[in-house]
Amino acid sequence: MAIYVNKNNGFEQGEPPTRVCPHCGTHAQLIPVASPSFEVLTQTQPKHAGLLFRCAACNEPRFLRAAVRAIGAERVELAPNLVEVERARERFQYAYLPDTVEQLLRETLDCYSLGAHNAFATMCRRTTRTALRTLGGAAKSRWQDTVLEVLRVCEVDAVTTSTVDAVLFADDDEPPTITPDEAAVLVEALKDLFYQSYVRTAKLRAAMRVRRFFAGENATVTSIDRESWRELA
Ligand SMILES: [Zn+2]
Repeated sequence: MAIYVNKNNGFEQGEPPTRVCPHCGTHAQLIPVASPSFEVLTQTQPKHAGLLFRCAACNEPRFLRAAVRAIGAERVELAPNLVEVERARERFQYAYLPDTVEQLLRETLDCYSLGAHNAFATMCRRTTRTALRTLGGAAKSRWQDTVLEVLRVCEVDAVTTSTVDAVLFADDDEPPTITPDEAAVLVEALKDLFYQSYVRTAKLRAAMRVRRFFAGENATVTSIDRESWRELA
């Protein structure tokens, strides 16, 4: 359904669109706040118009762009497909990561959010290598198994699976060129891998510490094989 800017500068649209908000992460309605005036649109005849909305959930401003379809005497018609100017950032529980890994993973996910898919692939490899350097020799094959298992469970095709595996774990100098579809799988595989390796392990360790605390010093506590917990990382 088209959007109209009327001669009196009224802003007309059907049902407000809903989008994932980059600020609060909620799938919320976009409430219109401001559009260019009818006078400016008629005078300058732009190809696109910028529109300001606010997120119904968190009230933060949301900037979108729409193609100008027709400029009439009574109203300007804008195309209904709104393009988001700000892209949603990928979210991650960074607090559980070591500092060096945190910084690299943030930049990796930012490359993905910007649509720079090959920069993203290059950073995926760098971040994975940096993380693995701190974890010892056995970690790489364990991480590789984890990723392959996730891709297998999700029935990801063989070509994408081998691309994701090569980007993250191959020993050559440069990761392969990736398509947007492969990048979409890679980002989920990467987040899952770092979640399992750092966030889940840290939460499990914290839960076990609480259990030991309440069990008290003298009570018999199921013994925890510390080495095997560490193995999870
Ligand atoms: Zn929001």
